[in-house]
Amino acid sequence: MTQSMQRLVILGAAESGVGAALLGKQKGWDVFVSDGGTIKENYKKDLINADIPFEENGHTAEKILNAHCIVKSPGISNKVSIVKQARDLKIEICSEIEFGYLYKGDSKIVAITGSNGKSTTTKLIWYIFKNAGYDAALVGNIGYSFARQIAEKPSEWYIMEVSSFQLDDIHWFEPDIAVLLNITPDHLDRYDYKFENYIKSKFRIAENQTNKDYFIVNKDDLNIKEYLSNHSINSKIIYYTMDINEQGSEGGYLKDEHLHLNIEGEDFEMSIHELSLKGKHNQSNSMAAGISARVSGIRSLKIRESLMAFEGLQHRLEYVATVKGISFINDSKATNVNSVWFALESMTEPVILILGGQDKGNDYSEIMNLVESKVKVIICLGKDNTPIHKAFDTVIDTIIDTESAKDAVLAAYSFADKGDVVLLSPACASFDLFKNYEERGNQFKEAVKNL
Ligand code: ADP
Repeated sequence: MTQSMQRLVILGAAESGVGAALLGKQKGWDVFVSDGGTIKENYKKDLINADIPFEENGHTAEKILNAHCIVKSPGISNKVSIVKQARDLKIEICSEIEFGYLYKGDSKIVAITGSNGKSTTTKLIWYIFKNAGYDAALVGNIGYSFARQIAEKPSEWYIMEVSSFQLDDIHWFEPDIAVLLNITPDHLDRYDYKFENYIKSKFRIAENQTNKDYFIVNKDDLNIKEYLSNHSINSKIIYYTMDINEQGSEGGYLKDEHLHLNIEGEDFEMSIHELSLKGKHNQSNSMAAGISARVSGIRSLKIRESLMAFEGLQHRLEYVATVKGISFINDSKATNVNSVWFALESMTEPVILILGGQDKGNDYSEIMNLVESKVKVIICLGKDNTPIHKAFDTVIDTIIDTESAKDAVLAAYSFADKGDVVLLSPACASFDLFKNYEERGNQFKEAVKNL
């Protein structure tokens, strides 16, 4: 696959596809890029500047099926006809992280996956590494793609957010440190609605690891636990847990409101009140990040400093403002039911919950108890709100339908009393009404500011 002037076809021209194209071109491949939709201007510019031919708004089979290797962008489903044809012809298909992996040289990789908390934990790990003086690049869904980073600014460490879609097409990809945060149903439409397929895909992060690599795993997650009881892993597993019955064990655990990282006989301890990120899920994320740093040789002092100073990301339980005693929280990134569970779990005041969008086959039973005990009113923000009405009509008296962030905020505001919280935590993708979750979150914040 490394021979020069072999044909490399990239399907999808967003950050990962364009990154792979730039790297491929640099390494001597004959690169062609094809996108079924319209390519964004900035990516077109990148391709033109690098003299890489491309097409958009469709795939020309003759220009694609002559490839020696195809890099498929994570957003493209296997059901797309051109992908099916390529697979039938046994053309090698890999993901962008696999392609980048071929050219990573001696650098090291920390790869983070899970259903929730990937971006937060990836950025936190990167922040600790940077603070400790490591030459570390933040890549994946946040920052540049891995391939682009290698092409434009190679680093000694890549701290990488990895999705299950990226893992679906790896062959040799072997992170030095892999982190698995949790597995809850998500993206099932891409896995034939079989949860076990999605679980398998997440565990591929460790499939090429050997006993010199680390696999950092959340022991509280029942799906992870069950999978590990039936499958063997070749790398060194380090567990972390919020379960107080696990106090004193090797790995990460909590004791007397202190987080402990007990690794290779050395215990690191820190009060949970000193952590800059709030909420139980973030204590768990902080443990995963701290362990990654410990096994990479970063000193405790640096880890503590960073865990205290890290500022979270926008759109993740982001406090917006308090208007007439009503506080507004933007959790637009909560695109599945499990993250809404954690958001509601951390709420101490009555909640007006803004829910809805593009439903991915959600099962709302997981949050039913929390909704019953904490939520006063549900405001639906989506084109088709039937699943929400179906789930909650019998438990919540007032459920209102809206189709814009502004109307949702106005409706929430009209039902809220002093001391209540208005929480945008939609459990759904945003694409029915917005470009992406950032736009949804920004419009929400804007509407709050205009109250
Ligand atoms: P991802 O990149 O996996 O989508 P983010 O860090 O962007 O994760 O967070 C997405 C949502 O999940 C946010 O609503 C956030 O508050 C919530 N979240 C963060 N960490 C966790 C966790 N460990 N478990 C459950 N939910 C989490």
